Amino acid sequence: SKARGKNQLTLYQDLLVGSAFTKVETLKKDAQFVLENNQLHLVFQPIFKGENPLITGVEALLRWNHPKFGSLSPDLFIDLFEETGVINEIGIWVLKEGISKLSMWHRSGHRSLSLSFNFSKTQLQSYQAFLDELDKALKETNVAPSSIIIEITESEVSYYDNELMHFIKEIQKRNVKIAFDDFGKGSTSLSGLRKHPVDVVKIDRSFMESIPFENFNASLLTGICTLLNQLNIEIIAEGIENEAQFKFLLNHPGIKMQGYYFSKPITPEAVTELLSDMEGNQSKLV
Ligand code: C2E
Ligand code: MG
Ligand code: MG
Ligand code: MG
Repeated sequence: SKARGKNQLTLYQDLLVGSAFTKVETLKKDAQFVLENNQLHLVFQPIFKGENPLITGVEALLRWNHPKFGSLSPDLFIDLFEETGVINEIGIWVLKEGISKLSMWHRSGHRSLSLSFNFSKTQLQSYQAFLDELDKALKETNVAPSSIIIEITESEVSYYDNELMHFIKEIQKRNVKIAFDDFGKGSTSLSGLRKHPVDVVKIDRSFMESIPFENFNASLLTGICTLLNQLNIEIIAEGIENEAQFKFLLNHPGIKMQGYYFSKPITPEAVTELLSDMEGNQSKLV
């Protein structure tokens, strides 16, 4: 929104004008209290499938409503949350809040809706607590574990990281899904997919930018999809912004799509509305 743009601009200006250090320190300090001050909320970006796109799931994305700087985007604060370690506690809040919303949507009849949310590697510091809260939330809400997808940034995945591999196994043991996020952004290793089974791959937005105009990228994308299909890995293409990209992706059976062309991240109330608009198998493009 315009307001958010302005606030962010102000923040950047504040950061640039002289006192950058103080401002970052202020944010770092404030980060400790975001939960008790109720300054966090989740928005949800729908994920679509098909020619008459239907919502198959939503991705939970964090927003920080800062009293002085306004609504901040994760690109500005996730690093701070990680550095200060509060991401451990906040990650658990995201888990609980997200699953409680999913449970509400399931109870209103949309039982096949999935929920994705992001997991920072820093959260491995406290993954046992995370797993305990996950088990508790699953038990309390009774949502199907397979409707939950935990996203890990692909470039942060190392197959030599025993702790991460153990975490992934624990998640999959519960029938909860693991997604590799931002796939293709860094130096992607396809052999990694062979070394460790993952349930979902999200193809990074940067990858979509030249689609379908650049033949090489288009062929590469098609090839990756074929490979992932054969490995039984679900594919979500991120950052779909225009009709040409959408039309191109429709040639890839089963692919799911997420991007501003369909919908920006929206409030839970707006998700509820969108879902009820779609009832009776009607398609809705927003
Ligand atoms: P991500 O997980 O890759 O999420 C997708 C980001 O791309 C979101 O930005 C979304 O708003 C944006 N996006 C979606 N469609 C489009 C499009 O068509 N065009 C463009 N230009 N952008 C699009 P957002 O919400 O600012 O989040 C940025 C990143 O912050 C996320 O990237 C994620 O890695 C991280 N993040 C957000 N929420 C959380 C959280 O709860 N925990 C952790 N650890 N990280 C989070
Ligand atoms: Mg994500
Ligand atoms: Mg992510
Ligand atoms: Mg992503």
